[in-house]
Amino acid sequence: MIEGSVSRISGPVVLSDGLRGSRMYDVVKVGKQELNGEVIRLDGDRAVIQVYEDTSGLKIGEKVTNTETPLSVELGPGLLSSIYDGIQRPLPTLVEMSGSYISRGISLPGLDRKRKWTFEPAVKKGDKLKGGDIVGRVKEFHINHKILVPPLVSGTVTNVWTGDFHVDETVVTLDTGATISLMQKWPVRKGRPYQKKMDPDTLLVTGQRVFDTLFPVTKGGTAMIPGGFGTGKTVAEQTLAKWSDTQIVVYIGCGERGNEMTDVLSEFPELLDPRTKLPLIQRTILIANTSNMPVAAREASIYTGITMAEYYRDMGYDVALMADSTSRWGEALREVSGRLEEMPGEEGYPAYLATRLAAFYERAGRVVCLGADNRVGSITVIGAVSPPGGDFSEPITQNTLRIAGTFWALDTSLAYRRHFPSVNWIRSYSLYLEQVREWFTKTGFGEWKELRDRTMYLLQKEVELQEIVQLVGPDALPESEKAILEVTRMVREDFLQQSAYHDIDSYCSLDKQYWMLKVILAFYDRMNASMSRGTPLARILKLPIKSEIGRMKELTDLERIKALIAEIDKSITTLEEER
Ligand code: ADP
Ligand code: MG
Repeated sequence: MIEGSVSRISGPVVLSDGLRGSRMYDVVKVGKQELNGEVIRLDGDRAVIQVYEDTSGLKIGEKVTNTETPLSVELGPGLLSSIYDGIQRPLPTLVEMSGSYISRGISLPGLDRKRKWTFEPAVKKGDKLKGGDIVGRVKEFHINHKILVPPLVSGTVTNVWTGDFHVDETVVTLDTGATISLMQKWPVRKGRPYQKKMDPDTLLVTGQRVFDTLFPVTKGGTAMIPGGFGTGKTVAEQTLAKWSDTQIVVYIGCGERGNEMTDVLSEFPELLDPRTKLPLIQRTILIANTSNMPVAAREASIYTGITMAEYYRDMGYDVALMADSTSRWGEALREVSGRLEEMPGEEGYPAYLATRLAAFYERAGRVVCLGADNRVGSITVIGAVSPPGGDFSEPITQNTLRIAGTFWALDTSLAYRRHFPSVNWIRSYSLYLEQVREWFTKTGFGEWKELRDRTMYLLQKEVELQEIVQLVGPDALPESEKAILEVTRMVREDFLQQSAYHDIDSYCSLDKQYWMLKVILAFYDRMNASMSRGTPLARILKLPIKSEIGRMKELTDLERIKALIAEIDKSITTLEEER
């Protein structure tokens, strides 16, 4: 056993002598209270430890014990619907044991050891198995939870059992001496292996018009949501966690206020998935490491979450991971780095900030999983970024920008005007447009790219026109340009704005998005055609059909939306005939 003693304490960073033989990222128990920590630097027999629990009261000379295992998570049935802290301790149990002020030094297994699961094997004696092969399954809510050979294990089956088992009981033995149970462990800082990465080519349908139609992200892609305080990052992350069409969701509340997490905790168990009608919590893992919890554990929560996401990806599922907020993780890195007296980089962040962020987002992707059946799984990573003062030039925003495929820039002035989601349509972008274009076409939305391009063109044009209006007033514009300002107002108010709290509009199917935009652009085209024949714009704008377009959001019957195109034509034709 490797044992040392505390020689210096600086907040969450502790120095220990006598830890010769330790390895980087070994988990250690610090002091009498056995606080959980991790070795983050080694120098001879001296180790630097980041402690995941409050170190106040810890004294020089107290014992440090190395568990000689890296920080790992338990992966197996029972993860779904669980709520964990940053180091996979079930929060409800922690609170039960110690009240809302969590006492320190508690070690708890991530997976319930008392619960039994019915295991249905898929292998028999004599089968040759390699890492990632499926040995059987258990039912975890509606999810077919595949029990996989751990990545580095292989051999021929010597025995296999059927029936009800605890997660740590052996269900398969191999001739190599390996035993397989319903759970496995994996060190969180290491990405779980797969066969190969594939191009992400499928849209992640979020039910949010500004995301799906204008700035799409793919399953297996990455997106970032930067925005100042109150711009709607948390609401966006929660909305995405609710409505994204993935089988599994991992939600990491990292360093944000505790009451935001309380919202998630109280709301999720009641919500139903609009597609499956099943409780959303049954596909969700929540990791809560709020601002009142120790900073060093923020980093652990990020890695714990992504490792769990990889585990379900490895079963061949599409997983979405939300992290709110990656900035709080970055700030924890800065604090620990400062206490280590490392050479600071930009704005005091450590020089390795960029590589840490990149390595995290790199664990997203659509992959061919390990295992004989070449199943495909994906992880989409959506990280919120909270730049101080909403200034995007700061290091975390800038470093994430280089990595993320989709950039949803939240805008303080839009939020101030209650335009939600406050996604700035000029600054935001998606690098997946080409990939999803084919997908839209295959899925029956052949005109998506054209509709999107026209909308983006008009919105950009609006910016120019508004500048002119600012200078010389609206009367200076020709009718055709006034018409552009009318249609872009419709795009903004009747299409882009979408309340996360509206009974119907909080989720908008792709079908509905597509037809809503078609209707708005049809109105624009019909309006232009009529104006070129001499109809005054003002008269068209008085037509009642215009307010009907504004009510599309609230319609559930797609046919009524489609019918608006003919109604637009009819009402403008009538107007022309009256003249
Ligand atoms: P942030 O996490 O960026 O600080 P929040 O996500 O907490 O901001 O959002 C702040 C407020 O903005 C919310 O309480 C809500 O009133 C409003 N808001 C944000 N997004 C939406 C939305 N899509 N629909 C309606 N209101 C929204
Ligand atoms: Mg927030």
